[in-house]
Amino acid sequence: MRILLSTLKNSNNEGYTLENEHFFEMKQEQINQMLEEKGYIDEKISPDLKLRKEINRLRKEKNAVILSHFYVESDLQDIADYVGDSLGLAQAAAETNADMIVFVGVHFMAETAKIINPYKKVILPDLKAGCSLAESAPAEEFAEFKEKYPDHKVITYVNATAALKTMSDIVCTSANAKKIVESFPEDEKLIFAPDKNLGNYINSVTGRNMVLWNGACMVHEKYSVEKIISLMTQYPEAEFIAHPECEKPVLLLAKHIGSTTSLLKYVESSRASKFIVATESGILHQMKKTCPDKIFIPAPSIDSTCGCNDCTFMKLNSLQKLYICMKYEQPEITLAPDVIEKARIPIQRMLEISK
Ligand code: SF4
Repeated sequence: MRILLSTLKNSNNEGYTLENEHFFEMKQEQINQMLEEKGYIDEKISPDLKLRKEINRLRKEKNAVILSHFYVESDLQDIADYVGDSLGLAQAAAETNADMIVFVGVHFMAETAKIINPYKKVILPDLKAGCSLAESAPAEEFAEFKEKYPDHKVITYVNATAALKTMSDIVCTSANAKKIVESFPEDEKLIFAPDKNLGNYINSVTGRNMVLWNGACMVHEKYSVEKIISLMTQYPEAEFIAHPECEKPVLLLAKHIGSTTSLLKYVESSRASKFIVATESGILHQMKKTCPDKIFIPAPSIDSTCGCNDCTFMKLNSLQKLYICMKYEQPEITLAPDVIEKARIPIQRMLEISK
């Protein structure tokens, strides 16, 4: 593959310019090695390049659709054809006519898009954009766990690897988890994986007693109850709202609990003008766009100094990486045909129920 790298600095070492761009051949093995080491093609680009314009050009030329999650940086949300939560993005991926899906989010989401669209090219700006929750449930360990409950059905939260989805009866997102659980008869024995906090919450609102896998999201499990109470005391007029991936003591304080889309709808409809928000801070961009006159305060984490909680995986995405991955159509998400075939069944079941 021919790749353009601006590897030479100008004479006074001030940076990269179009004049000193240096062309050379890079073999696919070298690209693969770079993708393995860094997760993306590390190409230096000219500071004069108009990234948005180039991304728009590539989107048109390649008939690509850009799907961005609510948790990525605001510029990546604004350039997307569709911005949403996991359910909305899966539905958008299922409906697209585009030839190429550019998934600006994390790895399991791009895998889901690939499973739904096995014949389309799905690319992700940075392969290292993983997910602590998905990683908390390694497939081999889950298979052993599942063997202990042979008469149980498995409901898997979408934040899981494709391998885990192959072992599932149905997938859910935080937006439809209650509905999916309630689609099973009351006496059905159920396993819920991998998020114990969402599983606990759904158990509490449905009265079920699902067996829970012990996984959690590193962002949502770190909210500080003490700091949230202190903020609520400081702003008594503010409403505290939270994502169900948060731990129970945090959820007990919340006026509204819901998926990111549900939180967004809530702030639109609520009469309150100030909100303390316990989910990844990227959602605040959409909240501010939708309700410019309202004030949104990110709930503090136990160890953050900035007062907010960012998902380091989501924040690996950038406009530059988006441009480069669209240009080279890499890194591409690939999955074995048998994994696609098995994982598609529980995802399709979820999409059917969520129509
Ligand atoms: S916010 Fe949590 S669940 Fe979402 S991608 Fe990041 S680590 Fe995974």
